[in-house]
Amino acid sequence: MKIYNTLSGRKEELETIEPGKVRMYVCGPTVYNLIHIGNARPMIVFDTARRYMEYKGYEVNYVSNFTDVDDKIIKKALEEGVEASVISQRYIEECKKDMEAMNVRPATTHPLATQEIDGMLEMIRTLIDKGHAYAAADGTVYFRTRSFPGYGKLSHKNLDDLRGGNRALLVSGEDQKEDPLDFVLWKPKKEGEPYWESDWCQGRPGWHIECSVMSRKYLGDEIDIHAGGEDLIFPHHENEIAQSEAANGKPFSRYWMHNAFLNIENRKMSKSAGNFFTVRDISEKYDLQTLRFFMLSAHYRSPLNFSAELMEAAENGRSRILTCVENLKYLAKEAGEETLKGEEEELLREADRFRLKFEEAMDDDINTADAIAAVFELVKFANTKADASSSKAFADGLLGLIRRLTDVLGLIVDKQEEILDADIEALIEERQAARKERNFARADEIRAQLAERGIVLEDTREGVKWKRV
Ligand code: AMP
Ligand code: ZN
Repeated sequence: MKIYNTLSGRKEELETIEPGKVRMYVCGPTVYNLIHIGNARPMIVFDTARRYMEYKGYEVNYVSNFTDVDDKIIKKALEEGVEASVISQRYIEECKKDMEAMNVRPATTHPLATQEIDGMLEMIRTLIDKGHAYAAADGTVYFRTRSFPGYGKLSHKNLDDLRGGNRALLVSGEDQKEDPLDFVLWKPKKEGEPYWESDWCQGRPGWHIECSVMSRKYLGDEIDIHAGGEDLIFPHHENEIAQSEAANGKPFSRYWMHNAFLNIENRKMSKSAGNFFTVRDISEKYDLQTLRFFMLSAHYRSPLNFSAELMEAAENGRSRILTCVENLKYLAKEAGEETLKGEEEELLREADRFRLKFEEAMDDDINTADAIAAVFELVKFANTKADASSSKAFADGLLGLIRRLTDVLGLIVDKQEEILDADIEALIEERQAARKERNFARADEIRAQLAERGIVLEDTREGVKWKRV
């Protein structure tokens, strides 16, 4: 399979360091608020890339951090009069709920910046020892960009232009830098901020160092894929490369993948611009599976405008697949014959060409737009070829194929069966009876069974209450 590598500016064949294994790091969110659907785009597209690599037989070690120390988190903590960790823990929990609702699988590891300070101090020390970093009089430690010859190779920027553009930084209090492009590795604490002891000052890490350190700790010095939104190319990822390669003396990541922005009226959705919808906002109006479908309906490197019309189109597209799946399930259940008959074997072989089309699209830099088109063709084929005279094996064969492909996209195609109030009440009664007989195993089983279907029980003095969540 090929992926577009920002580093080379070309699509390249994926060749991993260890055959059959992928080491992948995706920059995660700063947790000071509910995530917006712009933040959800990298989560969904790189989760899909991961699923596809697994489909191809790779074992993927997928690491994605939470930035849990940052100016915005500290500001919010001061406003609420609580510790910064209260804010970050709250929004990590909320983010994980959103991820689950979008069917984004948890990473193999979700490291937290505040748990990795020792590793950061160690890398900063190495950089100073090797002459790649220096401490200023007030204890701030900077990376010396001129000491790293590859600086600028990812963003393909002209460094002299950048230096000119950044001259303003030198006059605005950052005059302790040797070069306008030097960036912070460690900075002194301010009043009321969380801090850690270090050789240079009581302080906290800069943002870039955390990813270099966490990536090294969980994936090794050299990794296969590093990913994030395109706003991270410069300076964040450029700085990560400088830190990691200068400290480890080895190439950092083979491939760099960047998603384009999710926009509103052609402007990047962001917290600071105020033009955002949180995933939670969207969940009140739409099924989050529709949001996922919408995100995947465009190629990840194309800008995507959020609009009600496109969400409606996504809803229609998704329900076409869902309807086909329900129909095939019905045909399989009602079928008069078990095994393939007549030309069905040949038809299944024919249907398989949509799988090939799907794979061809995904092999071409995770082209989910074309992959979805292939699924639609398969759905159309199923709708025309399967009917009441089909065998169970034929309907099941088509179902299996649709499920396999939609599973790669992380789309759930089976309608969640609604559990009726009466059934819930009956189960609750059964649970009460089990408890009376001290059969707690059965009682717990019923509670778990209901929880799985989104029903939460609460034992109150007035009896058992339940609600849907
Ligand atoms: P942040 O919390 O701002 O560091 O963002 C977390 C991730 O979301 C990063 O990979 C960003 O590049 C990405 N991101 C933020 N806003 C957008 C957007 N409007 N469209 C696409 N990706 C975004
Ligand atoms: Zn990062």
